[in-house]
Amino acid sequence: ALHNSLVELRGNIRVHCRIRPLLPFDSESDDPVLQSSSISREVAHAVDDETVLVKCDRPGHPLINKTYHFERVYGPAESQSAVFGDVCPLLTSLLDGYNVCVMAYGQTGSGKSYTMLGPHSDDGPVLPLDPQSDLGIIPRAAEELFRLISENPSRSPKVEVSIVEVYNNDIFDLLAKDTVAAVSGVKREVMTAKDGRTEVALLASEAVGSASKLMELVRGSLQLRAKHPTLVHADSSRSHLIITVTLTTAACSDSTADQACSATLPREQTEAGRAGRSRRTSQGASAPQPVSGDPAGRAEQVQARLQLVDLAGSECIGVSGVTGSALRETACINRSLAALADVLGALSEHRSHIPYRNSRLTHLLQDCLGGDAKLLVILCISPSQRHLAQTLQGLGFGIRAR
Ligand code: ADP
Repeated sequence: ALHNSLVELRGNIRVHCRIRPLLPFDSESDDPVLQSSSISREVAHAVDDETVLVKCDRPGHPLINKTYHFERVYGPAESQSAVFGDVCPLLTSLLDGYNVCVMAYGQTGSGKSYTMLGPHSDDGPVLPLDPQSDLGIIPRAAEELFRLISENPSRSPKVEVSIVEVYNNDIFDLLAKDTVAAVSGVKREVMTAKDGRTEVALLASEAVGSASKLMELVRGSLQLRAKHPTLVHADSSRSHLIITVTLTTAACSDSTADQACSATLPREQTEAGRAGRSRRTSQGASAPQPVSGDPAGRAEQVQARLQLVDLAGSECIGVSGVTGSALRETACINRSLAALADVLGALSEHRSHIPYRNSRLTHLLQDCLGGDAKLLVILCISPSQRHLAQTLQGLGFGIRAR
């Protein structure tokens, strides 16, 4: 039983590593040794679908020949649909009532936005990108979510979305009706609601009935983020983007109601699923969680949350020599990513205290990281020699989180 519960707990955090292809701008090296020699510019390789090899035998540099193991490694040729294939089962879990988080970690230019969203407008003619097959996790997840919902119309959860950016440890509401407020800093606070769930006070949220409506809100937020760079910050890679999709399903809590509800509810909320649910709930913040009930105690609502996260570029870690606002930015990114590493490390070691509250980022993600929630971290790395130091830093983060 102990073994099983460890396997189950361990199964809640998955770290996958994705190596993007070598791109033209990777070769714009001003290093004459690299320009003139035949030395490979690729230092990170997918040896098989679980192993990354970092190999650098450049003269004058310390020799590096190290392998890293992950549950899954995507090489440069792997498609967006292959990556999404591993996200799909998590959406089924979401509909079964679990909280789910999918996040991309890596330095700027390592492929986080490509992985989460797909190619973006400032990509230029770098690679022949196809608008359909290059779609990233977020648009695919939106489609799949509503497809799964339509497969079982009797469940019909209410779907709501909210979108925030975390910049300099402040939370900006990208769906706030007043866009000036959203970009100029009506900052939101994270708090713990009465039922124990983590909420952002006064956060705007919109009900959505289709994938296209959900994506319209996502695109609107991205434009808002890009359009007002001077108001909030110069570069979106300096902030964390968090899209939260909340599913609310009516549930029943007495035995007569169970019979009526068992045909219409996810497995979790039926008699069969209940034992498992209470066992899991006792492990900490987890899904599914009842959020309200009628006075007779019969009907209640069950919520499950999906959080999709494009993290700030990790290259800031360890950077020195910056001053002024850039220094504050760097320090904040450093602190929030370090706090995330601490939380993931504590979770994977099954420690009793998980330091969620050390940064707004981890506090905001708390319900989707711990307890019973299912987390997938996609560690994005560049294969290029130029990015070796950042690649090693990212791999270290991934190993710690695993
Ligand atoms: P980040 O969000 O980490 O800053 P991007 O997603 O913008 O990085 O990726 C940087 C560049 O690399 C973009 O031009 C993007 O289209 C390209 N790219 C990233 N990953 C891949 C991939 N797997 N296949 C093809 N192009 C990719």
